[in-house]
Amino acid sequence: MRNYKFRLYPTALQERQFVETLDGCRWVYNYLLDRQPLSREDMQFMLTELKITEPFLRNYHSKVLQMVCHQIDTANKALRALKKNGHKIGKLRYARSEDYNSFTYNQSGFDITIDNKLWLSKIGKIAIRLHRKVSNIKQVKVKREGKKWYAIICCQITMPITKFVDSKKSVGIDVGITKFAHDSDGHEIGNPQFLKKMLNPLKRASRRLSRRQKGSCNYEKAKTRLQILHEKIRNKRNDFLHKVSRYYSKHYDLIFLEKLRVLNMTKNHSLARAILDSGWITFGSMLRYKATQVIEILATNTSIDCSKCGNKVPKSLAVRIHRCNKCQLVLDRDYNAALNILQRGLKSLLLMEREEVTPVETERSLKQESEATGIVR
Ligand SMILES: [Zn+2]
Repeated sequence: MRNYKFRLYPTALQERQFVETLDGCRWVYNYLLDRQPLSREDMQFMLTELKITEPFLRNYHSKVLQMVCHQIDTANKALRALKKNGHKIGKLRYARSEDYNSFTYNQSGFDITIDNKLWLSKIGKIAIRLHRKVSNIKQVKVKREGKKWYAIICCQITMPITKFVDSKKSVGIDVGITKFAHDSDGHEIGNPQFLKKMLNPLKRASRRLSRRQKGSCNYEKAKTRLQILHEKIRNKRNDFLHKVSRYYSKHYDLIFLEKLRVLNMTKNHSLARAILDSGWITFGSMLRYKATQVIEILATNTSIDCSKCGNKVPKSLAVRIHRCNKCQLVLDRDYNAALNILQRGLKSLLLMEREEVTPVETERSLKQESEATGIVR
């Protein structure tokens, strides 16, 4: 499944219909939220009954409303999973109109017409900028971003299965805050820190917004200005991430990344903004769909171990140079980490190949070995 994003150009009437659909979905969302806990089936059933008592709901495509049940159900599951992992969790909050920005057509109720427009049931034909061909559409999500509307079209695609992966064209990538990435070929990419650079204009814009009277014309203007700033940051970051991920997927067959536990890392508030600003998660997901093969490995001690002799050289975050007193290796800290990631990755690959030959015999030793090397497979 792959998502493509297209700009929509609704007419004034269609835009009003979009907003009405958002309102309808939000109404259902809040109604169901009030009656939790409910299973997905309960919610679906409740929805069918609601359509009888609340006739305005019949103005919307039924699958769109069903997706609201799905949305709540997924959020509930995510909360439960977090709780299970020992995180503190709250309750789902009521959706306010300013943060409820998308509705979804699943399986049916949409089409791309012959004149290259997006047709949506109950809404009609909408002008769309189709910058690529789409087929096998499974889902269409209509999304509002500031004043703009987008369609996120989910397509099922068949990928050629590459059987032979050349491990010579492999690379380990270490991601960080001071530098965005450093790879095992010594190539380094700085961190553009898009959010940090725009922090002052952002502060100014949100200060202006807070001084305006809510609902006034000037309030709306200030709000739009703030939204545009956020959009600019997002666009710049995405552009950067697309270019970097493209570079790696083009030049390498096998990419080893460290497995990050960003959720844990963002608990440190001084680091949280820098981490989220860098976009590691997005980078990982872009790589996964672009590259031939991406393997994640556990990043324990990658910056401490010496990549040449395995000696442990503990250092704080501030120490940028790796100096091994055993083998006299002097190397950039992140370069050393990238080399470690590559070595562990290649080792894990060897283990996998061995497993394919004699799975029963090696299962135990593999487990022990992977525990020792900290490789997640
Ligand atoms: Zn060493």
